Amino acid sequence: AAPLKVCIVGSGNWGSAIARIVGSNAQVLERFATTVKMWVYEENVNGKKLTEIINTDHENVKYLPGYKLPDNVVAVPQLRDAAEGADLLVFVVPHQFIRRLCDEMVGCVSKNARGITLIKGIDEGPEGLKLISDIIREKMGIDVSVLMGANIANEVAAEKFCETTIGSKVLENGQLFKELLQTPNFRITVVDDADTVELCGALKNIVAVGAGFCDGLQYGSVSSATFLESCGVADLITTCYGGRNRRVAEAFAKSGKSIEELEKEMLNGQKLQGPLTSAEVYHILKQKGLVDKFPLFTAVYQICSEGKPVQEMITCLQSHPEHL
Ligand code: NAD
Ligand code: 13P
Ligand code: CA
Repeated sequence: AAPLKVCIVGSGNWGSAIARIVGSNAQVLERFATTVKMWVYEENVNGKKLTEIINTDHENVKYLPGYKLPDNVVAVPQLRDAAEGADLLVFVVPHQFIRRLCDEMVGCVSKNARGITLIKGIDEGPEGLKLISDIIREKMGIDVSVLMGANIANEVAAEKFCETTIGSKVLENGQLFKELLQTPNFRITVVDDADTVELCGALKNIVAVGAGFCDGLQYGSVSSATFLESCGVADLITTCYGGRNRRVAEAFAKSGKSIEELEKEMLNGQKLQGPLTSAEVYHILKQKGLVDKFPLFTAVYQICSEGKPVQEMITCLQSHPEHL
C-alpha cells in the first residue's frame, strides 16, 4: 500500500510539539509518507513570515521556541494546499477556530481520510453540547478519533515522560494513530470511550481556571474507568499545577487585570481554552436547567465573564446541592 500522507492542522504550542513527534516517526516508519505538511496560520514574526522561518530554520520561534522541528515537516500557509490529498489529519488548533477551518477544507479531503483531534474544548449547538470531534466528523464526513492526556506541550517537546489517551469509535483507526504518535517517552493507551476522553480534556480547563483563582487568592469528579486514564484525573492534576489556564487565572486573582489583557501579556499569542469553555458549558447548563448542580463551573464562568469578584469564588461553592 502507498504510504499514508499526514497533514497537521495547526502549529501553536501543542501543534508544534506534536509535529516533532509526527515528523520523526514519519521519517522512520514505512507506513507513513516521509513528508508531513503542517498548516500554519500565517503571521509576521520579526519582519519575516512564520512559514518561511519554520521552513528555513526548522523552529517555530513564536509558539515553541528552543526546539527544532524535523526537516521533513513542511510549513504550508494555505490550509487547502496543506490538506489536499491527506490520508491522516491531525487537528490541533484552539477550539474557537475549528468550524471555520473545517468549512474551508470541505471538498479537498477524501471521505476515506481519517482524523484525530487534540483540541480541548466544546461547542454549543442549538441542541446543547457539541463535541469538537462531532463538528469535524459532520463537516468533513470522516472518522475522527481524539487524543487527550496529561501533556504540557513544552514538557513533551523536551521529551519528558508522559502518558496520553486516544479515544476511538473505530479502534483500528485509534491503533493507526497510536503508531503515528507514540514514542518511548509519549505512551499511548487506546480506549473506545471517545466521548468521555474528549469531555475530560475540555472540562479540566475550567477546573484549572478555578485552581488558579484559588492560588491567586492564596487559599491553600460517566464511565469511571476512563477517569483513571491519562485524559482524566492525571490531566486534571497536571493542568492545575503546570498549565496556562491555571497560571493566567492566578495572575487574574492577584492583579485585577482582565483575562483578555493577561492572555495577551503572558502568552504571546497562545490561547486559553478554559474561560471560553466555561461560558459554553454555562449556556448549556442554563438551557438544561442544571446551573445549580455545577457551582464550580458556574463560579468560574461568572468570574471570567460576568464580572463577579474573584473573592466570591469560595462563597459560590458553599451552597452546592449536596451540602444542603
Ligand atoms: P496555542 O495556544 O499556542 O494557540 C495559538 C495558535 O492559534 C497559533 O498557531 C496561532 O497561529 C493560531 N491562531 C491564532 N489566530 C488564529 C485564527 N484566527 N485562526 C486559526 N488559528 C489561529 O495552541 P496550542 O497550544 O497548539 O493548542 C491547541 C489545542 O491543544 C487547544 O485546544 C489546547 O487546549 C490543546 N492542548 C494544548 C496543550 C499545551 O500544553 N499547549 C496541551 C494539550 C492540549
Ligand atoms: P493549558 O492550556 O492550561 O496550558 O493546559 C494544557 C493541557 O492541556 C495540559 O494537559
Ligand atoms: Ca516514512
